Amino acid sequence: MNQIWRKGFALLLSTILSCFLVIGIQNYTRAQQTPVTLETSLLTLEQVGDNIYALISDTDYPPANENIAICNAGIVIGDDGVLVIDPFHNQALGNLLLSEVVKLTNLPVKYVLNTHYHFDHTGGNKAIKAQEIPIIGRGTIREDMLAKNQESDPTPTVPNLVINNDSNIWLGERVVELEEVAGHSGGTDVIAYIPDAQVLFAGDILFNQKFPYIADGNILAWEATLDHLKAKYPDATIIPGHGEIGDRFSLDSLKGYLYELELMARKWQELGLSEAEAIASAEKIPEAYQDYRFQGLYQKNLKTAYQQITLKSAPKS
Ligand SMILES: [Zn+2]
Repeated sequence: MNQIWRKGFALLLSTILSCFLVIGIQNYTRAQQTPVTLETSLLTLEQVGDNIYALISDTDYPPANENIAICNAGIVIGDDGVLVIDPFHNQALGNLLLSEVVKLTNLPVKYVLNTHYHFDHTGGNKAIKAQEIPIIGRGTIREDMLAKNQESDPTPTVPNLVINNDSNIWLGERVVELEEVAGHSGGTDVIAYIPDAQVLFAGDILFNQKFPYIADGNILAWEATLDHLKAKYPDATIIPGHGEIGDRFSLDSLKGYLYELELMARKWQELGLSEAEAIASAEKIPEAYQDYRFQGLYQKNLKTAYQQITLKSAPKS
């Protein structure tokens, strides 16, 4: 009897697994065959200033197929050329971004900026390299991409222009100010501000109405950066790395979430809770965040808060 049951269970399990495999393969094949457009990538092109555009992704994580964009991107058109920000996670999406630029202007793309090293913002560099356009990144971005992006992007195309200070890009008379900030990605975060239009591309320093990915960052440094940006750019239109276009209130919301995490982790410390006890005490997603996307990160973020704040073992930035 026991053996029959076991056989039956094995058969059921293998049937379920095969179904998942078939669905997975179908999705993959469909993604390979379908031409990549804004619509298929779940992207919306939005004008955010004079000659400044954002491509806003409307996906949860993980996306339903490989050609759905995970992050947002930017297009800044100057007098003599274009800056493109974050060319998505693969070559097809990088090419899509370049083809959108051609629809907007005859000017050439002069630079591409990676706001940090994570694969969802840098995998599309392959399309950029093929066009021989310089790719800008900050600090240890090359090393980090090669060492840490292996799983999602085993052969990364790294930036060939690395900045180690705040820097300006001139597109004719239009300036784009690059500022190094801390908090999200261990020393590779850089934001881009266009003063003549008061538009800020914040990269993943801002997740808008989505749980942020903090395992690679530093909660306290990130909170300080959000306060700094709010004070420095009170009237800016802010394009997050993930989520809808926002403003200083969006910075505030994310700061509020991180601060709540911080307070919770300090409380765990006072109470002397183990990690398992701490996570169990905060198991349910609070009402205020029920509508947030990337819900898979909720519990991971509790663990990170425990490590960084309860146990005080935060990385440097
Ligand atoms: Zn991201």
